This record gives sequence, structure tokens and C-alpha cells, in this order.
Amino acid sequence: AAPLVVAVSTSIAAKKGLLIRNRASFENARFIEAVVFDKTGTLTRGEFGVTNIAASSPYAEEEVLSLAAAVEAHSEHPIARGILKSAKERQLSIPSVSNFQSLTGKGLQGEVDGKEIMVVSPGYVRSQNLSFDEGPFNEWSAEGKTVVFTLVNGKIAGMIALADIIRDTAKEAIHQLNELNIKSIMLTGDNTKVAQYVGAKLGMDEIFAEVLPHEKSDKIVHIQTKEGLRTAMTGDGVNDAPALAKADLGIAIGTGTDVAIETADVVLVKSNPMDVLNIIKLSKATYRKML
Ligand code: ADP
Ligand code: MG
Repeated sequence: AAPLVVAVSTSIAAKKGLLIRNRASFENARFIEAVVFDKTGTLTRGEFGVTNIAASSPYAEEEVLSLAAAVEAHSEHPIARGILKSAKERQLSIPSVSNFQSLTGKGLQGEVDGKEIMVVSPGYVRSQNLSFDEGPFNEWSAEGKTVVFTLVNGKIAGMIALADIIRDTAKEAIHQLNELNIKSIMLTGDNTKVAQYVGAKLGMDEIFAEVLPHEKSDKIVHIQTKEGLRTAMTGDGVNDAPALAKADLGIAIGTGTDVAIETADVVLVKSNPMDVLNIIKLSKATYRKML
């Protein structure tokens, strides 16, 4: 009878848009004690729009945006899509780039007219001891906006703020995890202030921000061993894949990258954070019936 129950559950799951790729992990989903969420693209839609630009003299705002767009044209990151969309809306001409390079978890760089252009995170800017206008940066970050910097030959030309939209059901998902006594944790490469803004809105228990891609899986191990919790990881990006692999239950968002989907134990076809709860509940319902 047991395998039949499981087969039925798997097909119920599939109808609900929960694609189970690894049965054993699904079986153990009922024991999960902590659920880790990536922020961009997981708790949020990953659809950025540019909201503010600040240029440092002698640059104009449009230059800051068009130079950024030139380099971002070579990236698939949600930030890249937001910057390109905005540059196109403003009908800016986007110069061509040579020697493009992606700086994983930090941003990217390329050459325009013999100048080195970088679009990078606040963390990278700080690591280079570059000073910038803290006023707008703090204001925008506190509003939950992601801020990136455009650098020309190693000097700051300006900063660009981008806003994302929190998924409708994220708050309910965190609330229900809380009711089940399951800890909710955010794991993001984005700035601490932005992470805190989103985490507070959603009522999350713990936040790890400014985490570089290779450190994401270390954090999962930390939660498993130091906090002693059976851990699920939910993510969408290439940078989430190692963490998905390390987790007791790896959950990929359906709109995520192929690498995340291929690494995950379960795929949420509808990209709905509430489905994390549905997996745990279905696992409990399925295996409770067995001895
Ligand atoms: P997340 O964990 O939120 O998915 P990532 O590891 O992809 O974040 O990125 C971390 C940070 O690195 C971003 O918040 C941004 O500051 C910077 N970054 C990454 N990719 C880009 C890009 N294409 N353009 C500019 N900045 C980027
Ligand atoms: Mg992401």
C-alpha cells in the first residue's frame, strides 16, 4: 500500500505544480525545521525597475545609466534587465563593450571607448575604499531598494537604485512557517539594509546578507550543524545551486535558472513561496499514513 500512497501524493503534487524530482527528500520534507529563502527572484519577483540615479560630477545621470546599460547588456541578472529596460525607455544610446567580464556576486565590467566600466555592489565599492554620497545611498537602501555603482576607470561615476516587488504570498508563507515552528531565514547577496527591509516586512526570523555565491552553501551547513536544524533551501539563481545541493531539501523556483532547477529536489512550477508550505504539508500527510 505504501508505494501507492506515495505515487498518489506525487501525482497530487504534480497537479498542484509541485514537481518532485527526489522522492527521498520529499519524504523527509516533513522533518524540516528551517527554511532558507534567497531574496531576489524568490521572495521578490526579480523584476527590477530603476527608481533613482545620482551622478557624480562631471557625469550626467543619463551617462551613468547608459554606461551601466552597455555592460549589463551582457548579463542575465535581474538587475541587468532592469537597467536595460530603463535605458531603453529613456531612449538612451547604449555604447558597445569589449572585454566583458562577470565578477560573480559583485557585478560586472567591460571596456567602452578605452575606458574600464564597472557596475558593482556597495560591498565591492567599500572593499576598494571608494567614498560615495552616503545620504541617498542610505535613504534608498532603507526603502528596500538595491543600489549599484557605475565606475569609470576605478572612480565612481554614479549610483543607480532599483526596486523589486515582494511576491504577494511571501508574507503568508513566512507566517505559516512560523505557526508550524519552522524557522524562516533569508540568504542574499544583496545589501544588509535592503535585506533587513524585506525581512522585517515579511517577519522573518534571521537574515544573512552580502553573502557571496560561494558562501551560500557554507551558510546552509552552518544552519545544519551549528544551529542543528534540518534545512530546506529555496532559490532561483545559478549562485543558489550549491546551497540547494547542500540542503536537506533543495527547492527551486520555477522561473529560476536551469542550473537551480536541475540541482533541486522539488521545483515550484508556479513560483509561489506558499508552495514551500504545501510540500511540507503534503509530505506530512503522505508519510503519516505509513508505518
Ligand atoms: P542574490 O543573492 O540576491 O540573488 P547575487 O549574488 O546575484 O544576489 O548578487 C549580489 C549583488 O552583486 C547584487 O545585489 C549586486 O549588488 C551585485 N550584482 C550581481 N550581479 C550584478 C549585475 N549584473 N549588475 C550589477 N550588480 C550586480
Ligand atoms: Mg535570486
